[in-house]
Amino acid sequence: MAKRPPADDQPLQCPRCIKKMRKQRHLKAVIDHCDACQGNFFDEGEMLAVLGKVADPEVWARGDRKRTPCASEITCPRCHKRMHMHPLGDDTLAVDVDFCLSCGGIWLDGGEVDAVMQIGARSLAAEAQQARKTKPQTKPPDTAPGLIGQYLSLFPKK
Ligand SMILES: [Zn+2]
Ligand SMILES: [Zn+2]
Repeated sequence: MAKRPPADDQPLQCPRCIKKMRKQRHLKAVIDHCDACQGNFFDEGEMLAVLGKVADPEVWARGDRKRTPCASEITCPRCHKRMHMHPLGDDTLAVDVDFCLSCGGIWLDGGEVDAVMQIGARSLAAEAQQARKTKPQTKPPDTAPGLIGQYLSLFPKK
């Protein structure tokens, strides 16, 4: 596994508006949040810890993807490498997620958390349906919608 710097160091700088971000402790993660643009930075594994299986990037990656990843316009607030933009979703709901291929961090602009969770939940539901066809005893996946509500309530809209 790649070594990454400790999560509890100096405040990170927002890649969009260059302001210092606020650290918000939640469950097992420390999320870096920009109060100015509502952007969020998650270190590798933090989204999974905070939001459950719908936030697993591997789940999103399985979804239908017509556009290909490309270089993002922002740099990673953690390691300052250029991030990679991954288009997720389909024609009805699409969002571009910024991934850092170097440290595994994920940047989500304000409002994108919600959209990403919906895409993840959709993808899991489709898989569960597929699984029931082949293996009827399969347990439904833990989509834990309560976790999303908990997360969203951390950063109430003003
Ligand atoms: Zn910002
Ligand atoms: Zn990084």
